[in-house]
Amino acid sequence: MFSLLIVDDEPDNFDVIETLLIEEDYDLHYAANGTEAISVLPIIQPDLILLDVMMPVLDGIEVCKRIKAMAEWARTPIIMVTALSSKDTLAECLAAGADDFIAKPVSRLELMARVRSMLRIHQQYQQLTVFNTQLEAMVEERTAQLETLLNVDSLTQLGSRVYLLDTLAETSRSGGNHAIAYLDCDQFKLVNGAFGYGVGNELLQSIAQRLKQHLRRGDLLCRVGEDEFCFLLHHVPSADGLIPWIDEVMAGFLKPFQVANCDIFMSVCLGLALEDEVGASGEALLQAADMAMYKAKLRGKGCYQIFNCAMKAATLKRLTLETDLQRALEEQEFITYYQPIIRLTTQEIVGFEALVRWRHPERGLVSPGEFIPCLEETGLVVQVGLVVLEQACQQLQEWHQQGYVGLMMSVNLSVRQFGSATLLADVEKVLAKTGVNPWDLKLEITESALMENTTMAIALTEELRSRQIHISLDDFGTGYSSLGYLHRFPIDTLKIDRSFVNQMQPGNRNYQMVQTIIALSHQLGLAVVAEGIETPEQLKYLQELGCEFGQGYLFCKPLPASEIPLDSGFMILP
Ligand code: C2E
Ligand code: MG
Ligand code: MG
Repeated sequence: MFSLLIVDDEPDNFDVIETLLIEEDYDLHYAANGTEAISVLPIIQPDLILLDVMMPVLDGIEVCKRIKAMAEWARTPIIMVTALSSKDTLAECLAAGADDFIAKPVSRLELMARVRSMLRIHQQYQQLTVFNTQLEAMVEERTAQLETLLNVDSLTQLGSRVYLLDTLAETSRSGGNHAIAYLDCDQFKLVNGAFGYGVGNELLQSIAQRLKQHLRRGDLLCRVGEDEFCFLLHHVPSADGLIPWIDEVMAGFLKPFQVANCDIFMSVCLGLALEDEVGASGEALLQAADMAMYKAKLRGKGCYQIFNCAMKAATLKRLTLETDLQRALEEQEFITYYQPIIRLTTQEIVGFEALVRWRHPERGLVSPGEFIPCLEETGLVVQVGLVVLEQACQQLQEWHQQGYVGLMMSVNLSVRQFGSATLLADVEKVLAKTGVNPWDLKLEITESALMENTTMAIALTEELRSRQIHISLDDFGTGYSSLGYLHRFPIDTLKIDRSFVNQMQPGNRNYQMVQTIIALSHQLGLAVVAEGIETPEQLKYLQELGCEFGQGYLFCKPLPASEIPLDSGFMILP
């Protein structure tokens, strides 16, 4: 039942209202003045107030202002009851916060209508408030759940990577030499592969349990990746001091884990980084520990590595190189040198190998050995390779136009380029742009590019060959060295790696190797190019073995196009 408070200095007026509302089911209360009205509010808890404007001492407008100023009653609707219908009075009431007016003498219908509608609005408002509060509570609860989800690893109940990073950010402000021990399981994928994810997950839980035993007071253990865990260690005076602890952690993995009725052996590699040594905290510390762990991995299973300055310097150098290479690409510092490929019987030039050089503004000419691996890792090699391809084709076209027809151009393709989705389109674009015939272009790929994904490699080489582009297998003998798979790849030429040519002496292993490669290539209908011919003896042996082509310092080093002595030929007699 709704409760109404009627405030009027004339008790008769209350009686009138009571009579008018008799048919409604309201609980009516009376207050004879403003002060009394305000004092009874907590007792009556009215849903609506009917307030007379003209009252001695505190008039209705003042009472209305005071009630509206109290937080608990501000929302309680107030209908002003007034004989004064001047605009000024009404405006004052409105300014005081009144919700509605009724003119005296009060008519029954008007009173009923206004009271009802005001109560209905008030009720709806209250429902809305309740609903809103519930909604806010739900949002709060859900946010808390999400935060937990974000901060806690659901599988092991350890802290998550996010949580570790947050904690690191806080601890780095608090000072003290912190350290991170970064652990990564060795070949964890094999477990998932052999036993399934269920067992893999159980194993991770057991590992977490076992690692927890090595938590020192105040330290933190988190799971930061699928099979990666991190200890945040507080107040570590020196790395040496921690070695016994590391030994204990590693020894913990000597016993098998009992999971799904099996004994599973699992080892970890550990990288440790100390804030003092890294010279940074927070995320950089985590990265340093990760890097040390990676170095440990390179040494084998169950190893640990402590981050040191040399690693820092190497990282820095590597980072500088990366940005330098990016810049070099933009500044067009990559240029192409050419090394002639010679027909060994006549010693005439049949073509060139395009070899990239980096014209560094300070360091001068830099060899590909120094930057190709970095280009490869960053993926920049795809763009740089395209630059070389275009320069080489452009140059070949010039030589052709100068009358040196019949020359071919060999261009190296890195593993990354060979795997690039745009390779075919890129090559076609360059050929179209430079006007070079596809059959005058030879792409040199390595065994590793072929072996990375053989099905794709075969398809791709076939695509290239169907466009009449030649394929050469570079550095043959250094990779998988399997003659057995050669017939599976549609290639035209084999390049014998310089390490074999270098040390060939009749009768020795290298000599026999070269001999076999040449014989087999001929059986398969492949042309052979010997790399790195430096001496007249090497040339002689290769000629005797029937090797048709070669390149090497004996004939010519790689040179810029302008220095290639095309006119003079290469008449180097053994
Ligand atoms: P590669 O394709 O096997 O190239 C032959 C390398 O042997 C070249 O080294 C060449 O200068 C060197 N060489 C030639 N004759 C002799 C010789 O008689 N004695 C000695 N000691 N060396 C000789 P370079 O130019 O330093 O290139 C090294 C490697 O870098 C290349 O080996 C190739 O794998 C890669 N490379 C070069 N240019 C490119 C390129 O444009 N793209 C890609 N992806 N790789 C390239
Ligand atoms: Mg090559
Ligand atoms: Mg080679």
